[in-house]
Amino acid sequence: MKRLLALLILLAGTLYAQHTRYVIIVVIDGVRYTESFGDSTHQWIPRIWTYMRPQGVIYTSYSNAGLTETNPGHANVVTGAWQAITNDGLTRPHTPTVFEYSRKSLGTRADQNVVVLGKTKLKILAYSDHPEYGPSFGASVASAPSELVDQPAADTLKRVLRTNHPALAVLNLPHSDSVAHGGSWDGYVSSVRNADSLVYDIWNAVQNDSVMKGKTTMFVTNDHGRHTTSFTDHGDGCEGCRHLMLLAIGPDTPPGVIDSMPRMQVDIAPTIGVLLGFGTPYSTGKILGSAIATFSYAHDVVLSQPFRDSLRITALLENPLAHPLKVLVTLRDDSGRLIDSVALKDDGFHSDGAANDGMWGHMFAPGPDGTIRASIRTDDLAAATSSSLADVAQFAFTRGALIALDRGTIDMGRIANTLQVRDTTFIVRNNGFAPDSLTISVDPVNVVPDTAIAVFPTTFYIAAHDSQKIRFSVRPQLLAPQYYTAGITVVPKAGVAQTTLLKAFLFEIVITGGTAESAGLPEEFALQQNYPNPFNPSTTIRYGLPNRSHVTLTVFNTLGQQVSVLQNGEQEAGYHEVQFDGSGLASGVYLCRMQAGSYVETKQLLLVR
Ligand SMILES: [Zn+2]
Ligand SMILES: [Zn+2]
Repeated sequence: MKRLLALLILLAGTLYAQHTRYVIIVVIDGVRYTESFGDSTHQWIPRIWTYMRPQGVIYTSYSNAGLTETNPGHANVVTGAWQAITNDGLTRPHTPTVFEYSRKSLGTRADQNVVVLGKTKLKILAYSDHPEYGPSFGASVASAPSELVDQPAADTLKRVLRTNHPALAVLNLPHSDSVAHGGSWDGYVSSVRNADSLVYDIWNAVQNDSVMKGKTTMFVTNDHGRHTTSFTDHGDGCEGCRHLMLLAIGPDTPPGVIDSMPRMQVDIAPTIGVLLGFGTPYSTGKILGSAIATFSYAHDVVLSQPFRDSLRITALLENPLAHPLKVLVTLRDDSGRLIDSVALKDDGFHSDGAANDGMWGHMFAPGPDGTIRASIRTDDLAAATSSSLADVAQFAFTRGALIALDRGTIDMGRIANTLQVRDTTFIVRNNGFAPDSLTISVDPVNVVPDTAIAVFPTTFYIAAHDSQKIRFSVRPQLLAPQYYTAGITVVPKAGVAQTTLLKAFLFEIVITGGTAESAGLPEEFALQQNYPNPFNPSTTIRYGLPNRSHVTLTVFNTLGQQVSVLQNGEQEAGYHEVQFDGSGLASGVYLCRMQAGSYVETKQLLLVR
């Protein structure tokens, strides 16, 4: 009983792996790399270098590969995607910010997401103009009492941290850039040095806050550098403008790491997503894996549709502690309704056959077409902890038509070479949820000339759950007497993976008339089963006469009432066929009765509407 209770409590509570609950990004505006981490004396950033760097990770090859201006640079950081926006504060980022991801996926409030301004034009960081996100998921904006100076901005952030404990805050320290534009070298470097103190001051304030202490990760970075050749300006994309500083420090970062891999300004946002538990599906950045050392997590979730009815889910697994893991993907439709949960497998369906390579996956057969949204949860079975990423991926699943044919191989039997046309029909059905356009082509196999066979129609629109009758016709007069095999191919236009359905037709052309051709005559009277059957609205009835006979062919309903007389008169020996059109008749069983001399035979015809 006691164990059961403990288990229930374990299941009911939210299990966390990461220690980070709060993230602060501090952007020191326009500091060149050569005045920050790139200066071997670190004289302008002594506190960050001496007191903070040993507890975290610094990135020595970190760049802005987009526009090296203030607004695009900051927007790259908070969206995780390159933002080619104007620098005047009149345009917003076009893909969602981390605030919008957090609010939409985790339901955080506006006051838990804060943009603290040193420059008024940076209020555009609060939300994007992306149609699925926008102002209702935006951050709150806290402006310092005076613009372009650092101390009031830092004080505003500290006040917000103290009172709100926001999950996610961005601070712009504007002064270095504005002083450098003014042309004063001493003013610029002393401003960098002042920003260094303010950053350290904020970090200490966090360590002295009982709520945020030990649960806060801070990114210290810049939006752009300055020209290599002149510190007064920036924006041409030279090395001086592109090369950025970045320090990540917090309870989940390993201490004292120097990461020299090429990293990008758009990499911060997806990293914050992992730390706080939301996906950043519109981000093009890569997670800064070296900044996360204490927990396992799945990322880069990809939904794809390799086959018409199947969804493939893959994810990359980071497992720094080499613990046994369980990975569960939860799929919801666009309205948030649960579709299913799918456990991913190591060496899932990624076709390289290798287990333990960090790629997990599984196949899944979803229901109707529509948008599928995935969240992923990584359970560390050794540590009994769990890491989740909400809304990591979405996918528009469309099967297009789901094509089925009503009959298998069709054996048309022997066909007299005197007939002009002999045909048969089959039904193509769309059992799917989406309409489609189908193309049917003939594969002649050994039919020469191939003009002797044809299908009609060859291309047509087919609605969901609709069907289409297709006629396959042979022109026996064009063919030599022998056994033939032909096929048709049905190719739907829509759907991610095109599906081809094949169907085979068998028939034998036989010569009729004259002694040499008597092999082509029926040996006895025969009424064959109609085809198609069931049918709607018409079907073909074929019968054979070994000699010239008087034939009656009559259709009755099950009450014995005569419905139609298909044939009544003398006919030559050989095979004959008639069409029975059930248009205007009710669905049900009908009886076709043939009489020729003493031969009487009845077949059941099934009309299904
Ligand atoms: Zn700037
Ligand atoms: Zn430059």
